[in-house]
Amino acid sequence: MSQTDNIIGADAEALATALRGRELELHYQPKVALGSNELVGVEALARWRHPKLGFIPPTHFIPLAESAGLIDAITEWVIAEAARQWSEWHAAGLTTRIAVNISAVNLGHIDFPDLVGGILRSAKVNCAHYEIELTESATQNAVNLLDTLTRLRLKGIHLAIDDFGTGYSSLLQLQRLPFSSIKIDRSFVGNADRSEDCRVIIRSVIDLAHNLGMEAVAEGVETETTLQLLRDLGCDVVQGYFIGRPRPGPAMLDFDKDWRQRHPAQPRTGPVEIAPARDRHRARRGA
Ligand code: C2E
Ligand code: CA
Ligand code: CA
Repeated sequence: MSQTDNIIGADAEALATALRGRELELHYQPKVALGSNELVGVEALARWRHPKLGFIPPTHFIPLAESAGLIDAITEWVIAEAARQWSEWHAAGLTTRIAVNISAVNLGHIDFPDLVGGILRSAKVNCAHYEIELTESATQNAVNLLDTLTRLRLKGIHLAIDDFGTGYSSLLQLQRLPFSSIKIDRSFVGNADRSEDCRVIIRSVIDLAHNLGMEAVAEGVETETTLQLLRDLGCDVVQGYFIGRPRPGPAMLDFDKDWRQRHPAQPRTGPVEIAPARDRHRARRGA
């Protein structure tokens, strides 16, 4: 059965049933620091395992959820499930940052930061271990964007601007919004070994991130050549199939063990105290 066939029947009603019937699950993809070789985070990616149709990709059901008014319920489930998984890993000795994706629609709610804070408190997850990824295109229109993002950041939650380079964020917006990292879109990263233009863009985004006191993260790293290129360009963190594919939560413990065996931690050589530098900058401005 092709992916298109799969999607027929995966409509809003089926999605609402899926949410109630525990057909949604999260898979997790590792993020590794190039300076220290350490597993520094994981990204939670939603999966819909339909009992008859098989896996439905998030690129289909997230837009469906947004248009059908289901995205708030899905995001709330994602935040809580990722927090539950973090606690399970923590109890098993793995303490790493966990990132979830949210939609622009979620930020339209003024109480969103308190909702996230409440979920993390109930799950006993320190906000400093939690990260929210927001696509660059989602930073365009949301009302209360600065206020909502600032309140999330003040709780200690990290914020990443996702798919950077595919939207139209202004430099002013980047300077004002309290992001702690920039994720360079995989369309640039995937072509870096063939395209000088992509390398120039990646280098510029890394410089921009560092000059604004943010961490530069490259996603979509599929080859060793690309990994080496990113290392040479001074990228901080990498994510992609070459490091590890998204996998169910329990499998992350094995990944961590295996990764540490194959890649012993190096003394940290990357940019020092990236987030605090930004906080100092904000403090100077009285923000
Ligand atoms: P994203 O946030 O940019 O997530 C990265 C996507 O790239 C994931 O696709 C991941 O599986 C894929 N990927 C990771 N490494 C590589 C690589 O080396 N090569 C290639 N070709 N792909 C790679 P996935 O899981 O299908 O998710 C697609 C998008 O759906 C995500 O893009 C995100 O925008 C959205 N999404 C996923 N889960 C959620 C969620 O819980 N909430 C919201 N609002 N959106 C979600
Ligand atoms: Ca993401
Ligand atoms: Ca992305």
